[in-house]
Amino acid sequence: MILFKKTNQLRQQLSAAKAANKKIGFVPTMGALHRGHLSLIETCKSICDVTVCSIFVNPAQFNDKSDYEKYPITIENDILLLENSGADILFLPAVAEVYPEGWQQQAIYTLGYLDSILEGEYRPGHFQGVCKVMHKLLNILQADILFLGQKDYQQCMVIKRMMDDLQLQTQLHIVPTQRELNGLAMSSRNMRLSSDAKEKAAAIYKALSYIKNNIHSASIEVLKTEAKNIISTAGFNKIDYVEICDAISLQPVHETNNEKLAALAAAFIEGVRLIDNVQIE
Ligand code: AMP
Repeated sequence: MILFKKTNQLRQQLSAAKAANKKIGFVPTMGALHRGHLSLIETCKSICDVTVCSIFVNPAQFNDKSDYEKYPITIENDILLLENSGADILFLPAVAEVYPEGWQQQAIYTLGYLDSILEGEYRPGHFQGVCKVMHKLLNILQADILFLGQKDYQQCMVIKRMMDDLQLQTQLHIVPTQRELNGLAMSSRNMRLSSDAKEKAAAIYKALSYIKNNIHSASIEVLKTEAKNIISTAGFNKIDYVEICDAISLQPVHETNNEKLAALAAAFIEGVRLIDNVQIE
């Protein structure tokens, strides 16, 4: 694996690969890597000739400064995991390399409704920051395929919208969520949880699975109330939302229909904010 910290050196390497007609796949991450990230690398390797992973904790997407400061950094272990995963390139830029002009700017991406619901409502500015960094990284890499995890489902929809709006050439490939044995979605944030909380935190997936399994036997309101009960009874201190939405537009639905739905939740345990979602056919 080759490590690049500088944009121009990475660009040079990739233009040689492109000239040789290699298909370039891109897996952006914020590090603190786990099996979820590695499944993205594996999928990328199975489809592309060159697998590029980036590790960049993007200050522009943290609406809460202390969340940014507490974000786990495990770079040495990440490099080992990436070496073993067979990734070809690691892009590890400094903040000034990605944002030479600084990163605190006005919202510029037209995300409409997607920017103000669910994560958008509870993390103002978050998706503008996500788009800002993804736009820059996609512009630098000019990858053929971008690999994102379904774990951050709204983020996938937001980035898809930004890519479509800007008519970027890169295709999006969404990879299923990897879970612990108890159902807890793998996340870098889980590192901040005690082992007791990791057990309790599986309640988010239980609650979302409850919605999925009972989608035709109860009303949307009853399903959401019951799911919230499951989460709070398990020991979560605060629930931001439990919502059942159209899987494409992410508009909340009020009754079940034949469309594909998604159940999404965000809640705090031991001061750590966890999110998850399940798709309902
Ligand atoms: P992050 O480092 O949290 O920004 O995540 C980088 C990428 O890994 C994003 O596309 C995430 O959706 C994806 N990802 C994170 N956790 C998981 C998981 N448990 N399963 C699959 N993909 C994941």
